[in-house]
Amino acid sequence: MNAKLDSGVTTRPVTRQTYDEVLVPTYAPAAMVPVRAAGLDVWDQDGKHYLDFTSGIAVSALGHCNPVLVEALTKQANTVWHLGNGYTNEPVLRLGLALTEATFADRAFFCNSGAEANEGALKLARKYAHTKFGPHKSRIVSCLSSFHGRTLFTVSVGGQPKYTEGYEPLPPDISHIPYNDIEAARAAIGDDVAAVIVEPIQGEGGVIPGDVAYLKALRELCDKTGALLVFDEVQSGVGRTGSLYAYMQVGVTPDILTSAKALGNGYPVAAMLTTEEIGQHFNVGSHGTTYGGNPLASAVALKVVETINDPAFLARVQEASSKIFANLEQLSADYPELFGKPRGMGLLIGLPMAQGYKGRSKDYTKIAEKLGLMLLIAGADVVRLAPALVVSDEQIAEADRIMREAVKAFLAQA
Ligand SMILES: *Cc1c(COP(=O)(O)O)cnc(C)c1O
Repeated sequence: MNAKLDSGVTTRPVTRQTYDEVLVPTYAPAAMVPVRAAGLDVWDQDGKHYLDFTSGIAVSALGHCNPVLVEALTKQANTVWHLGNGYTNEPVLRLGLALTEATFADRAFFCNSGAEANEGALKLARKYAHTKFGPHKSRIVSCLSSFHGRTLFTVSVGGQPKYTEGYEPLPPDISHIPYNDIEAARAAIGDDVAAVIVEPIQGEGGVIPGDVAYLKALRELCDKTGALLVFDEVQSGVGRTGSLYAYMQVGVTPDILTSAKALGNGYPVAAMLTTEEIGQHFNVGSHGTTYGGNPLASAVALKVVETINDPAFLARVQEASSKIFANLEQLSADYPELFGKPRGMGLLIGLPMAQGYKGRSKDYTKIAEKLGLMLLIAGADVVRLAPALVVSDEQIAEADRIMREAVKAFLAQA
């Protein structure tokens, strides 16, 4: 029997406790519940202020509730939201033009999440290899410690066994090799390989930049064997590293590139970009998704790409990066027993815990959060900073002040 929703569920107070009562416990969210945000400022249910150096895991690159994006979203919301794949729409056509004109790609496929973009990339690579070389060419090679999403295919391709435990049987023909190890790549990439997928800088795996020589070697090995090189730029893309996509800085061009996270600044949207020749293998009916490239998502993403793909904007990302790096290098020099040397690209920065404090990154970020600074971790051993790309010099100085205060509090209780 249907009952009208009359329990006051839209008005009665909800708290962090409610999470434990009604949501599947896939996450362990913070004790505070954010209710409002603007730029890099966030306020919780008690009105307490936080400086956000997470961007919702490298998503809100233009800051929370960016007025330009709010305008693009509301304008489109009053025009048309969704049409379905029986029709195309103007915002997605413009977004396709913007991304193909700005990158190596000639073709784009739009979907809703990073995992879905990678799923599409891996499926396309299989289909391409199958059609062009035959069914024996099916192997996917990826790196240990990599992260490519949570669908069964992408989580199996990802190099973190803890994420596949209990989900067996896993899809076959997937090999994992150590990151930045050219010899291991040479040994693994044979004629049976359909695709090599790699993050130009590993994000979840600890903020580890790929060596240029390594990424170049992957390109050469793929060219030699006919495998497709897939760059997962879900985290590194859309200005995060100081160029529109990290491959542009590295000087290695992939065959397929995936983009998500910052592409919609928080509105779910993702893209898989590829060449004319490869893209043709996703022919009518071979792949799809209901929401992919819908007008709302596309209108927001178009405005994001337009704003970020600007030399002056990207130069400022590099400038902000240098300032944060300088602060972190000083912090690690002042507390070598606590932190190693900072690493990363642009505004994707990892600060490793030193030997004596391995496994404690979360303990440190929890203290920083209490003091009003939201930080990320990248595994148990690395503190990760990924502020919005519009971070100001004042906010960089404030984050440095709170990080130092957090060090004192952390060492006092450690
Ligand atoms: C976050 C991430 C993904 C997964 O994206 P979802 O939108 O969560 O599916 C895939 N690859 C990389 C490199 C990521 O950082």
